[in-house]
Amino acid sequence: MTSQFIPVEPFDYVVFGGTGDLAERKLIPALYHRACDSQIIGGSRIVGAARAEMSNDEFREFARKALQEHIKEIDLNPDQVNAFLDRLYYVSVDAKSEKGWDALKQLLGDEPRVRAFYLAVGPSIFGDIAARLGEHGLIREDSRLVIEKPIGHDLASAHELNMAIGRHFREEQVFRIDHYLGKETVQNLMALRFANALYEPLWNSSHIDHVQITVAETLGLEGRAGYYDKSGAIRDMVQNHMMQLLCLVAMEPPAAIEADPVRDEKLKVLRALKRINASNVSDLTVRGQYSAGASDGSAVSGYLDELGNGNSDTETFVAIKAEVENWRWAGVPFYLRTGKRLAQRVSEIVIQFKPVPHNVFNSDAGRPIANRLVLRLQPGEAVSQMIMIKDPGPGGMRLREVALDMSFSEHFEVRSPDAYERLLLDVVRGYQTLFMRRDEVEAAWEWVDPIISAWQETEQRCKKYTSGTWGPTAAIALIERDGRTWHEEEQFD
Ligand code: NAP
Repeated sequence: MTSQFIPVEPFDYVVFGGTGDLAERKLIPALYHRACDSQIIGGSRIVGAARAEMSNDEFREFARKALQEHIKEIDLNPDQVNAFLDRLYYVSVDAKSEKGWDALKQLLGDEPRVRAFYLAVGPSIFGDIAARLGEHGLIREDSRLVIEKPIGHDLASAHELNMAIGRHFREEQVFRIDHYLGKETVQNLMALRFANALYEPLWNSSHIDHVQITVAETLGLEGRAGYYDKSGAIRDMVQNHMMQLLCLVAMEPPAAIEADPVRDEKLKVLRALKRINASNVSDLTVRGQYSAGASDGSAVSGYLDELGNGNSDTETFVAIKAEVENWRWAGVPFYLRTGKRLAQRVSEIVIQFKPVPHNVFNSDAGRPIANRLVLRLQPGEAVSQMIMIKDPGPGGMRLREVALDMSFSEHFEVRSPDAYERLLLDVVRGYQTLFMRRDEVEAAWEWVDPIISAWQETEQRCKKYTSGTWGPTAAIALIERDGRTWHEEEQFD
């Protein structure tokens, strides 16, 4: 898991795109929290870099507003805010020209210290920035590069991007962030599996009936139409977050919870996924697009209206029945579903165990319900093991399902840090376990690309679903024809 090691040497964190949405909402608040936890020691600098002209003081004012807006008031201590803002600097830099690079070099100086370059900019300029960092001699042995999804649009573009970065940074210096991997529950999956003797003997096709992974949003496009319409749910959610979750559920125990052993095991899972192509795509996948309906009690428009383009067939929902073709998982389906404008905002992994082999209770007791382990990533991270007990009190033997429930916010008094908080300092520590290696990203595209091609080849168009529902009825049929049902969040509580 995340090392408790606190950096003892000052470091520099350069955030390209330091004035953008990601920096404002996530990175600056996350760095502030780390500073409050004494993890950003004196002398460290956080440098915002973007094209806009801005003084250090103006950038500090921008950051102050970001903190006020995105951090709970109770966590805003004026002295700590001022101490944090004092560490902020700004350089006006253009990835596409020579502007600002000498100034950045001068600011960073020659002192040996860890330098992290976070590219919170559009992926089309990742390669330009890596090249200019190289040309200006800004990359040293202890430099690191952080990039975020989308890492390519398909295998070819991901490969090209990885090559462009690889010309200047060694793989050990590249941190491909998937913030889902920074979530407490996701790391807990590793603790549950490998720190308890209880689960691992059952973690296979003899005892697990199937696995469900759901990432459901209630939001629609939220101003991201330009990006989303070219991407769709499979590229935006499945290729990265959902496949990472699937890997962590399905991987073999690594020799150690360290970067390469863990990533080697995840890669084996990706390579063992049953290929989906034109011959089976209509049986194994469902594409959907939301139409008008209601979300969180208010009427909302359909995707095409939000987009202002009546022709788009981009999927805002996808459900996939995946299979990991190896000894451990033979015959165990992994049902994946993700979508926008669904009934609830929930991300969860459900491990559905098989029923007991024989029911010894009489019909008055009720039937034992097969055990389920539910790992909820949001809202409110929690782990819940559903088990059968006797209904307490008189009245004879009646069976009842209860949750051995662990909600992190209820059980631990400490504030649950945002995923970015964990990951940002792992970069400084050089701790790559929770970041994706190049071959993993490319292997995920190798599985996703043929699905997209098969949709085109078979002309599998999106099925409409009403906003505020759980997606097209075909997605319900996808799992129900196997005699199973989707886990609904109400069952969790
Ligand atoms: P954004 O709000 O549009 O910000 C882009 C930033 O890049 C701005 O600071 C912009 O400032 C700077 N920039 C643009 N062109 C530049 C250039 N030629 N040279 C130097 N700086 C330049 O975008 P965002 O939403 O923060 O997203 C940034 C990246 O993170 C994208 O790849 C996105 O897909 C990814 N991401 C974002 C989120 C999120 O929640 N926002 C979540 C996951 C991933 P100037 O215009 O002043 O240069």
